[in-house]
Amino acid sequence: MPDEITPRFRSMLDRFVAFKAAKVATSPDGRSFGLASNESPNGPLPSVLEAINQAALQANRYPDFNCTALIEAISATFKVPAEHVAVGCGSVGVTKMLVEAVAEPGTEVLFAWRSFEVYPVLVGLTGATAVTVPLKDERHDLEAMADAVTERTRLILICNPNNPTGTVVGRAEFEAFLDRVPADCLVVLDEAYGEYVRDDDVADGLELYRDRPNLVVLRTFSKAYGLASLRAGFMVAHPVVAEAARKTALSFAVNGVVQAAAVASLAATDELLARVADTVKERERVRDTLLSCDWTVPSSEANFLWLPLGEPTAEFAAACEAQGVAVRAFPDEGVRVSIGSPDENDAFLAVARAFTTGRRA
Ligand SMILES: *Cc1c(COP(=O)(O)O)cnc(C)c1O
Repeated sequence: MPDEITPRFRSMLDRFVAFKAAKVATSPDGRSFGLASNESPNGPLPSVLEAINQAALQANRYPDFNCTALIEAISATFKVPAEHVAVGCGSVGVTKMLVEAVAEPGTEVLFAWRSFEVYPVLVGLTGATAVTVPLKDERHDLEAMADAVTERTRLILICNPNNPTGTVVGRAEFEAFLDRVPADCLVVLDEAYGEYVRDDDVADGLELYRDRPNLVVLRTFSKAYGLASLRAGFMVAHPVVAEAARKTALSFAVNGVVQAAAVASLAATDELLARVADTVKERERVRDTLLSCDWTVPSSEANFLWLPLGEPTAEFAAACEAQGVAVRAFPDEGVRVSIGSPDENDAFLAVARAFTTGRRA
């Protein structure tokens, strides 16, 4: 068969840059530190592991299609009506549901750049136009974003704290922004890292959405709840929005094991938030250490730090990798490093200290 003949694919696929999964790095003495994907450094709690094991016994059965127990647990924990909740395969899955519910060719979806790498991919697949507004000093430029809204804008994605910069949108500036957005344009506040926020002035989606029928809040079980491998996330919004998003969901996308694990995790919220508090402490320790070595590190409200290195980004990422420390590198822009356990963070800091010294020499 002539090898130039292939099935006909959607033309938009040619423009796609495939998502590059984080590499595992290994040091010469065999050590590996995974600081590339903003995961929790802690394995599942015993109570969660027990729920996972129990649910696994039912692996031959389809899970609860409506995720009733999970939605009830989310509703009780976050004090929101169950009709306001929709769940999906990770909050990326929920973002896909929302994007597919509103975007189509001829419409626009607006987000800042640089922000979460998944946004342009999800928007591109719908045939809608992704409109990006550059960050200003590593932060969302909400005035410029409001200026970029047109009558074609159906959806605006705001990542708060922003991945990869860790910066946040304040309550007052966000409310002023929402006042400028047309009421029929959806605004999504992606709070994947909401549990790590310590700044009281940060916009709180669950507080604001009640009076804002076009505001959607996204949360995930992948970060603070430590279930990245199992895949569950949810949105909170007014019922018409939650209903529209549910229509686009893949059937049974939230499997039975993660439904049980997420319910058990919500029951253990206090224990999990204590782990988050440890990560926040480590975040400040790592940042303070970097600042004392003359690194530029924006203040972060997430479980990662952003190092806007510019041109030496690849060199620094390679130095990390050589010592078994996997980080996320955005060539010529910077490196995002997740906050792990104290030992993992020390391994990273050792590389950073040596690199600073090397560059000064
Ligand atoms: C990690 C992350 C998520 C969570 O994704 P899941 O699909 O729930 O694992 C969502 N948004 C942002 C910005 C993230 O960094």
